[in-house]
Amino acid sequence: MIEKTFNGEEITRLVNVIEENSSFLIIGHIDPDGDCIGSMLAMALFLRAKGKKVLCYAPGESGKDFSSLPGFDMFADENEITSFSPSVVFSLDAPTIARTSDVIAYEDHRIVINIDHHPSNEFYGDINIVDPEASATAVLVYRIMSEIQPESITRDIADCLYVGILLDTGGFKFQNTDAEVFRTASALVERGARAFELAREFLYVKKLSTLKLLARALDSLEVHAGGKIAFMTITSDMIVENGSSMSETEGFVDYAASVDEVVLSALFREISSNETRVSLRSRDDYDVALFASRFGGGGHRNAAGLTIYKGIEEAKRIILEGLEEVLNSHS
Ligand code: AMP
Ligand code: MN
Ligand code: MN
Repeated sequence: MIEKTFNGEEITRLVNVIEENSSFLIIGHIDPDGDCIGSMLAMALFLRAKGKKVLCYAPGESGKDFSSLPGFDMFADENEITSFSPSVVFSLDAPTIARTSDVIAYEDHRIVINIDHHPSNEFYGDINIVDPEASATAVLVYRIMSEIQPESITRDIADCLYVGILLDTGGFKFQNTDAEVFRTASALVERGARAFELAREFLYVKKLSTLKLLARALDSLEVHAGGKIAFMTITSDMIVENGSSMSETEGFVDYAASVDEVVLSALFREISSNETRVSLRSRDDYDVALFASRFGGGGHRNAAGLTIYKGIEEAKRIILEGLEEVLNSHS
């Protein structure tokens, strides 16, 4: 059963922790996406406005350049983080410690605040504000700020939260797009969020090299199981030949998912000769998070990911076999 721990008691404890402490580290999950970064920056701006010392850190690489977002100057590299001794660590959009950085979150004396919307969240914080029904962590951060101090939601914070919601809902078109998403987006635009500019910068505009890479990725599209499963493949050669980085392929899986009649889709990325990253998408109640968990991965019902320590062809064979089973066992 999915547990939800968004409640008044946790919020009151959070308010006390914020009041009683002065230095905060905000961490996100590996290869942070827009929801992760937007939520981190919104929280960082909120705390900085209260006179707190704040740094942000997330391991890995983002698929997009978020450096134009307000507060991005609070992002630090690993060295700066190791010499920083915060009394509180916020972990945003990360279901497990393994998805962030164990060293950072688990030094004894630090209070860990876990704010997330993944159904697989392991409640690893001293305070856990988790709601798997929330479409984005940014929605939760908005709820928290509205409860604590609505007037603190500045235009800068509104921009950051709007980006989180925009990207985790694929521009208001994924299956998680519910009434709260529109209510929150509307409230954020009222507060000054620049809906058009943010959609243009983070959803619409792409580098020429990314589009050229997309052309090759589209060329790799293949369907299986009578057209119900779609695969897309990115090899390391494609990346090198195109002068791109693997992180540019974020979002490509949506094209596989967009093929008519397809219910299960996967993007395979060759990391090395024995490591393949797999992004999975599904429709309706086909649960790809459950499927990914068989391979040590995770995510949400309709969007999940995993790493398989096999070459790309072997990985495709194994995942196809597994997805065909999912398809066949579905009534
Ligand atoms: P992606 O396909 O990388 O866009 O990821 C889709 C969703 O799956 C996101 O919510 C990720 O946090 C989650 N996810 C991706 N890879 C993994 C993994 N290896 N382990 C756990 N969750 C993952
Ligand atoms: Mn995320
Ligand atoms: Mn998210």
